[in-house]
Amino acid sequence: MLSRVEGRFYEQAGWESVSCRLCPHHCSIAPSRSGACGVRTNRGGNLYLDLYGRLSHREPVYSDDLPLYHFKPGESWLQVGSRGCTMRCPFCNTWKHSQVAGSLAPPVSPEQIVEQAVAGRLSGISFGVNEPVHLHEFVYDTFVAAKQAGLHTHMATSGLWSEAPIREMAPVLDAVTVGLKGLNESFYQAELGGELPTVLEAITLLHALDVHLELTWLVIPGCTDKQGEAVALMDFLSRLGTAPPIILVPYEPSFTWSNEGNAATLEHLKAFRAHFKDYGNSVYEAHEDSAENNTRCMKCGRTLVRRGMARLVITSVPHTGRPKSECPTCGTPVPYRI
Ligand code: SF4
Repeated sequence: MLSRVEGRFYEQAGWESVSCRLCPHHCSIAPSRSGACGVRTNRGGNLYLDLYGRLSHREPVYSDDLPLYHFKPGESWLQVGSRGCTMRCPFCNTWKHSQVAGSLAPPVSPEQIVEQAVAGRLSGISFGVNEPVHLHEFVYDTFVAAKQAGLHTHMATSGLWSEAPIREMAPVLDAVTVGLKGLNESFYQAELGGELPTVLEAITLLHALDVHLELTWLVIPGCTDKQGEAVALMDFLSRLGTAPPIILVPYEPSFTWSNEGNAATLEHLKAFRAHFKDYGNSVYEAHEDSAENNTRCMKCGRTLVRRGMARLVITSVPHTGRPKSECPTCGTPVPYRI
């Protein structure tokens, strides 16, 4: 089983160097060196993905934990992760996967991952835990096999992702969750190692290509919880003509930012959530099992997905248990994909 394949989306440059075009970093990579993600390497003037099929994480999770709130709520997915990242967030809470060159499981094929999902009666396959964009060839091959098996596909990404690979991935990608860390360009540049405008361009393109879109927003008290940024996000989305679910994620000190006093409390989340009061019913608080996290009908407010229990309870057709596609009270289509 190969664990190294030639990468796509690169150009050869002079002196045997290569230019990777997979993400907006456009790394210029000298022979025997790797790009900023640490897993795409120049070998003899060609660019290779070093970790094809090499995983650090593979386990079933519920859709809310991907997170994915408005696409097949309550179903279980096989979540898959590996090493490396295109960003350097100092507070990364999965840094042991994204930033550390630790041990990996023996290589697996896309078909083996699909077999595991099918055998476990899981709804689909999700690449997350670490950034999946730089694992493009393996993610793409896995999603092609997943679609052939009738499974759904999802990626959780920071959104540092160039146009051509997005266009290649979109036909086999059902849903994506883009992780925003505020909307402050200088914060992105100075602290996270990424360019915010390129993230917004990726979101725009994913929406245009009809990939189901959800957003997370990391709430860092005093940093990413400003009303102006919430307003700017709603303005951006309204110009885009969409209102995806926004899942507020509480900041917890981690990695190199370890100041315990700066953790986001429930009160921080609720205060920030209040800035979205005109956004409708699609703002959630990650990991929160209260009634405020229920999904309600956009028109009459009836609860359609109830959280706060061991499992989600979804309004379903009596006797069959299948989710209803319309609100039982007013007949408005439910705001999520069933
Ligand atoms: S995917 Fe990796 S090597 Fe390619 S441009 Fe991005 S960080 Fe650089």
